[in-house]
Amino acid sequence: MYDLVIRGARVIDGTGAPERAADLAVRGDRIAEIGPSLGPGREEIGADGLVLCPGIIDTHTHYDAQITWDPGVTPSPELGVTTAVIGNCGFTIAPCKPHDRDLTMRNLTHVEGMSLEVLRDGINWDFETFPQYLDFLEAAGAVPNIAAFIGHSSLRTWVMGEEATRRDATSGEINEMRSIVLDALKVGAVGFATSTAGQHNGEGGVPMPSRLAGEAEMRALTGALGEAGRGLFMLTKGSGTSIEFLEDLAAANGRPVMIAALLHNSTRPDQTFEDLRRIGAAQGRGRNLYGQVSCCPLTNDFTMRSPYPFEGLAAWLPAMQAQGDEVKAVFADPEFRARVKAELEVPAAVRLFNGEWHKLNLLEAAMAENRNLEGQSVGALAAAADRDPLDWMLDFSISENLETVFTAVLLNSDEAAVGRMLRDPHASISLSDAGAHLTFFCDAGFGLHLLGHWVRELGALPLEEAVWQLTGRPADIFGIPGRGRLEVAAAADLLLFDPARVGRGPARRVHDLPGGAPRLTTSALGLEGVWVNGVKVAEAGAAVPGRGRPGRLLRDFAA
Ligand SMILES: [Zn+2]
Repeated sequence: MYDLVIRGARVIDGTGAPERAADLAVRGDRIAEIGPSLGPGREEIGADGLVLCPGIIDTHTHYDAQITWDPGVTPSPELGVTTAVIGNCGFTIAPCKPHDRDLTMRNLTHVEGMSLEVLRDGINWDFETFPQYLDFLEAAGAVPNIAAFIGHSSLRTWVMGEEATRRDATSGEINEMRSIVLDALKVGAVGFATSTAGQHNGEGGVPMPSRLAGEAEMRALTGALGEAGRGLFMLTKGSGTSIEFLEDLAAANGRPVMIAALLHNSTRPDQTFEDLRRIGAAQGRGRNLYGQVSCCPLTNDFTMRSPYPFEGLAAWLPAMQAQGDEVKAVFADPEFRARVKAELEVPAAVRLFNGEWHKLNLLEAAMAENRNLEGQSVGALAAAADRDPLDWMLDFSISENLETVFTAVLLNSDEAAVGRMLRDPHASISLSDAGAHLTFFCDAGFGLHLLGHWVRELGALPLEEAVWQLTGRPADIFGIPGRGRLEVAAAADLLLFDPARVGRGPARRVHDLPGGAPRLTTSALGLEGVWVNGVKVAEAGAAVPGRGRPGRLLRDFAA
């Protein structure tokens, strides 16, 4: 007798192989058998017409803080994710000394899209070192499986304190960081993660610590992966980091490099393809470089109190440094405006906002008499008023006490281009950023969007290839053994969905962060069931009551 038998599904095994009709049986936490006419199970599910595949492995999440108060890792499991990799971009909370906790939270508030109050209320700081953090996560348990990066920004803050956001590290400090990376890999870090991207800033516009690292530091810390013979190097690449340098690191260490965030930019339409071409050329020379791409248009909902799309502009710094309502004076300052306009005139390879005012829309006006303007673009509204778009947007926002909500679809909105990126053999489809940017967007359902929008609606790639990109491929790249495939003895991490309906619903705002703060979320469409290690955790898009915390903390990765 099996514990569970799912009968007559279209089985897609995660290897890219063609689908086949079969039953799948689970005993305990593992797949016991796959084949025709299997014996009885304590629980039986008829799956005629449904697709059964491995659970989604989301390799780009930021649940490091949230998981300490929310073991449900909301909303990823309800959106089909059975394994989440945390610590991307190096935005971690371990290691962290008690007197650096507030500093760490101030660094995280902008990139996470959570207020300092939410982080202060929410984070359970029952650890200091990275090994203690992993032990803490393991003891607490979670709904999905978790793999964790050791993150560069925490590492720097641990060794350098406040200086981490200000200067190069000394050789002594670099050695200390390197030995911590080695220890982290020994106890089960999936790799080392960092960011050199200009839009990654902490409170007051202070750069994230990793952005201060010089070449010697990058070589030493990634060298720890080579010395340990395990782990993946992940980075979100700024315009100052070349693919050639990353290939050099891959060659020196013999370890894979995952390069984020390759998002298509209509003002520099060839840039991502050029990056993918260089990554492909490096692969041709035997280096394991991958380009992380997204299947979601990058949407941002924001007010001018926290305008993430603009914060990558150097000229925006005075606005980020202003406290509270002081920012209104900065926005009103003609010199500030002139500097922003001048910077936007110069094209940049890696930048969120590139002066495409027609892609910024007024989503919600604060004042009733302005509601008639909702839904129009800033470009159109400024033209109608015969004003410069930046001037119009800032003046309008000031007149509404900076409470106007704008929405911007800035990058990855050209579907022909994004389709080409998704099919690129050197691309890894990921980049949900789940757990971060919570007030700006929610792409935690990226896998369902790939299966629904790109496979069913657009026919951009075959279902088997899409499933492989979400399961077997990330398991291989990250060296996660026994997951990401439907095969006998593999973990029973399963996804059962209706291919005619699968997708993600519209974004909506909920108020369930610590202190009742808001975040954006989406619901699954066409998702019949999600199992983690044989335990059903979601059904019809909702959490299963009493599901417990079946996820494992993953510590053993293929060398
Ligand atoms: Zn990220």
